[in-house]
Amino acid sequence: MTKVPEQLDIMVNTECNAKCAFCVQEVTHKPESGKEAAFLEAVRASMDYFYGNGGRKVIITGGEPTLKPARVEKILEILTEFPSLELITMYTNGTQLLKEIEGKTIAQRLLRTGLQCVNLSIHHYDNGKNNAIFGVKTNPEAVSAHLKEIGLPFRYCATLQKGGLEMLEDVLKYVDFAKANGAKDVYFRELFQFKGLELKPGIEVSRSKYVPIKPIIEELIQKGYTPIGTREKFQGRNKNEIRFEIDGMPVYFSALEIGNEKSEKLPYLVVMPDGKLRSTWHETDVVPTKSPYLQQKPEKMECPMARVYNNLAEFLSANKTKRGKQK
Ligand code: SF4
Repeated sequence: MTKVPEQLDIMVNTECNAKCAFCVQEVTHKPESGKEAAFLEAVRASMDYFYGNGGRKVIITGGEPTLKPARVEKILEILTEFPSLELITMYTNGTQLLKEIEGKTIAQRLLRTGLQCVNLSIHHYDNGKNNAIFGVKTNPEAVSAHLKEIGLPFRYCATLQKGGLEMLEDVLKYVDFAKANGAKDVYFRELFQFKGLELKPGIEVSRSKYVPIKPIIEELIQKGYTPIGTREKFQGRNKNEIRFEIDGMPVYFSALEIGNEKSEKLPYLVVMPDGKLRSTWHETDVVPTKSPYLQQKPEKMECPMARVYNNLAEFLSANKTKRGKQK
């Protein structure tokens, strides 16, 4: 078993040009971007530790990381020092990817520097609704066409919410939209649910706009789609994930609860914009890379959430006759 979480997150910045009401950034740590040299040194030190303990997946995130494209390029340059990384992807709202710097789009520049994939946040197939959720003008079709043209693979990521994708019909239309635009796969998630944290506006929005994913998954199964993979208990995170294939497109559904993770279980490893390494989104502890508990195997965690598919086996056996059929 690896001693580290499956992925290392590198948070470039906390600023964003969008104004999503549910933004997790407003609810968790929001440090200022630290001095460039110290931040990049922290990225390298964290990578040394993570890679040295078997970690091979890196997620670049923000805020909106493409507001600091030079910083992202420098991170990617550091990552080239670590061979055979299985995944280097970046979450983005896509609004800056077509901007040009010295004759190349930001997307081209990041591809050239080693970015392997883009996780494009798009919350609705209807552009008016998508813009309303983001609070800025987005252009998923043009961005997707450009990524396709330059050969940079991309995933579509959508958060289910009231006023956005609310039911299975919306989800299926979204999958068609992603497929038509050339996405490699689709990732649907619930609005994060927060437990035991001080109530802040973002948490209230996450509650009031919450659309549960479980009934959608169940309806999908009843329609004859078969789950082809599940993951749970990620390094102590209360996270469930289930995978389907819809019309040849890999589609993931995920639910995540924030608030009960314990830093000593290493649920995450996140290099923050100020260069601090954290292992939860809410506790104040900072992980020293030489901490003794980093040398221990994380304990096997029981997942108390049990909301999405802990009873999936039971559910599937009750619906056996309907399984196997594909749309
Ligand atoms: S795009 Fe992401 S970082 Fe920006 S406001 Fe929306 S949720 Fe927050």
